[in-house]
Formats: sequence, structure tokens, C-alpha cells
Amino acid sequence: MKNILVIAAHPDDEILGVGATVAKHVNNGDRCFALVLGEGITSRYENKNQVNNIEVEDLHKDANGVAKIIGYEDLYLENLPDNRFDSLNLLDIIKVIEAYLNKLKPDIIYTHHGGDLNIDHKKIYEAVLTATRPINKEQVKEIYCFETVSSTEWNFEYKNSFRPNYFVDVTETLNKKLKAMKYYKSEIRDFPHPRSLESLVASAKVWGSVIGVKYAEAFEVVRIIT
Ligand SMILES: [Zn+2]
Repeated sequence: MKNILVIAAHPDDEILGVGATVAKHVNNGDRCFALVLGEGITSRYENKNQVNNIEVEDLHKDANGVAKIIGYEDLYLENLPDNRFDSLNLLDIIKVIEAYLNKLKPDIIYTHHGGDLNIDHKKIYEAVLTATRPINKEQVKEIYCFETVSSTEWNFEYKNSFRPNYFVDVTETLNKKLKAMKYYKSEIRDFPHPRSLESLVASAKVWGSVIGVKYAEAFEVVRIIT
């Protein structure tokens, strides 16, 4: 049994790139946790300082419902400012992550890709790499970056593009990911948006075809220590 921790910026990121893989971990008896660092909503407002607590609460309620569908044992929601992680000191993000690493002692971490268009995703990638430097005895053995559709593919920059080299056959668990995304009413979109159910299925089919299975999720290996 392993401890799995998904470290993400916004509610729905913990599903988009890795939801079906986490559901597979759950089926294998692993303990899965998600840490979502941003409140995920205030950048949609004209006045970013006017937080609508009801909307944040609704989103967080959805996130908890979704976590149950996937089988996350716990979902931890922090309240860093949506799409403004670059206004924070990186060290402050690192400290939050470190507190959860001490508490949960994950064997495997899944997190954002450093080349994503979204600034919060980039900052999380940097913070996770710093927080997990292999200097302690309790090292995180495996770290992988997931793809977050509507961010990873929208950074049209070759040198930092997502080049997956680790694939998980999710033929058995893709349905849970789709059910979970359907539940995220404020995040799901109509086709052809990348966060539509049709696009998520298409993406799983493409990655599946790369490795000769029906559906897959794709990752970039950051490091594996054995
Ligand atoms: Zn995000």
C-alpha cells in the first residue's frame, strides 16, 4: 500500500490530468490524497478582491463530492489567490506544501507540468520540486507531472512542451474520471472546449493509442528513486 499525493492549483486539476490514474491507485489499495492550493474562483471576478464566499463554498462542496467519486481518502483545500500565485513568495507556497508532506508522507506525488500556460501551475511545479529535494531520509520516491487540458496544450512553446514518457492504462477507471468531471458543474464545458467530456475521452484515446490500449493518462517523469 502506497501513499499517493496529488498537488494541484485549482479545484478540477486533481481530476483533469490524473483522476483515472488515482481511481486505479484506489482500486489497488493505495491511500490517495489531494492538496488543492488555490481557491480557484476569484480570477473570474471583475473585482478580484471581492470574494464571493458562497461561490467559493459551492466550488469546494463540489470538490469534496468529486473526491468521493474518485476515492480520494482526503481532499485538502487551501485558499491561495486564484491565478495570482506569482504575487506570492515562492517560499510561502513551499511551506504549505512541506506541512502536508510531513503530515502525509507520500511515496508518490503527481503534480502540474512546469511548462503549463497557467501561472499557478508553473509556481506549484517549482514549489513541489523545492519542497521534495531529496535531502532527507524520508524521500518522495516518485514524482510525475500530469497534463492539465486547457493549460498544458495552450502554452505553444516547444522548449517547455509536455513530452510524456510514463503512461497509465485507465481503460477500467476512465468512467470515474468522467463522472467526477460531470459533477464539477462550474468547471465542465461544452465540446469543443478541452474540458468537455468528449475532449477528455478523445485525449484518453490518443494517449491510449500511443501505448496500444483503449484509454490512458500520460505523465512526464520528474524522478524515480529505487
Ligand atoms: Zn488549474
